[in-house]
Amino acid sequence: MGETLAAICLGACSWQGRVVGQGLRSPAHFLRKNMASRRKGQKKKTTEEITETKELQHSGAEPSDGSSRDEEMSRKRKIKPKKKYIGAHVSMSGGIWKAVESSVAMGGHAFALFLGSQRSWTRPALDTAAAVKFQEACAQHGFDPMHILPHGSYLMNCGSPKEDVFSKSQAMLVDELSRCSALGLSQFNFHPGASIDSTPENCMEKIAQAINHAHQQTPAVITVLENMSGQGSTIGGQFSELKSIIDRVRDKTRVGVCLDTCHAFAAGYDISPPGGVKNILDEFDRVVGLHYLRAIHLNDSKGKLGCHLDRHEDIGRGQIGITAFREIVNEPRLDNIPMILETPGRPGFEYAEQIELLYSLCGKKAKN
Ligand SMILES: [Zn+2]
Ligand SMILES: [Zn+2]
Repeated sequence: MGETLAAICLGACSWQGRVVGQGLRSPAHFLRKNMASRRKGQKKKTTEEITETKELQHSGAEPSDGSSRDEEMSRKRKIKPKKKYIGAHVSMSGGIWKAVESSVAMGGHAFALFLGSQRSWTRPALDTAAAVKFQEACAQHGFDPMHILPHGSYLMNCGSPKEDVFSKSQAMLVDELSRCSALGLSQFNFHPGASIDSTPENCMEKIAQAINHAHQQTPAVITVLENMSGQGSTIGGQFSELKSIIDRVRDKTRVGVCLDTCHAFAAGYDISPPGGVKNILDEFDRVVGLHYLRAIHLNDSKGKLGCHLDRHEDIGRGQIGITAFREIVNEPRLDNIPMILETPGRPGFEYAEQIELLYSLCGKKAKN
């Protein structure tokens, strides 16, 4: 357990603290937790960025009560630029179908969720009635399975050199893919793994072995590898490592990549300047192949370029800045894939506001 990815991740992503255990914590919790870093950790923004962010925040409705806010979100959700599917990681607490309702309430057109507790290797069987209800809710609100991206358990380390951890991780990957199938979902996103005291080569070999095994055991769900920040011995910070794993996967139609903007920036890929997103996508295409890109995780970064820290920040409020996110939502090569927020979502700038901000940037030309 000490060597698992959970140990690395739970201390790293402020966003992740929200969904471990009993679901979302109170805004007050996050306000307290993040006030200090908010005061000192913000990048100095250009006047243009500050003005733009303020304008966009103030363009959002600020209804006085919960119900009018829901109605407003539902109305806004009907107006969406074509081919852009933005949403957030939502909680399944209270029933898995609640994830769909939460997503609708925040104006999302895509979403991510965990399929079980992040604390336990063993999980109760998926409730068939709940699975049906989930699929009905998805159909009712027009969510295509390709725009729903479950996130794997942080306990898993499919690259572990320890046999017991590896075999438990391999079994959990099979279980996660089986749950996706039962829910009518077609993609599953997870952190590739960490080599701990072994070599990156051994780690990548084991990860591919676990994926190949899971593909044999389950129907056609696509395994989507997430790029990492390169923290500790984690694999997947470099695009070449993702490619190395893909090369060893037998069924190439069932493997893909989810690009996390915070992780990429922390790993040294500078998407922040004008043209940065285009450059990084060109590099991704050259090294991995854009046809493998299945999703984006939209996160600003508390840490600086190349810091290797996995510290998510709200959109436009970190070291990456708003320019990159404007480029992302206007990039045609990112059409029709889910774009998922995993940011802290502080009071006053929660997921609903960040989704609205991102949609408002669609169609806006970059300012150089
Ligand atoms: Zn992740
Ligand atoms: Zn992510």
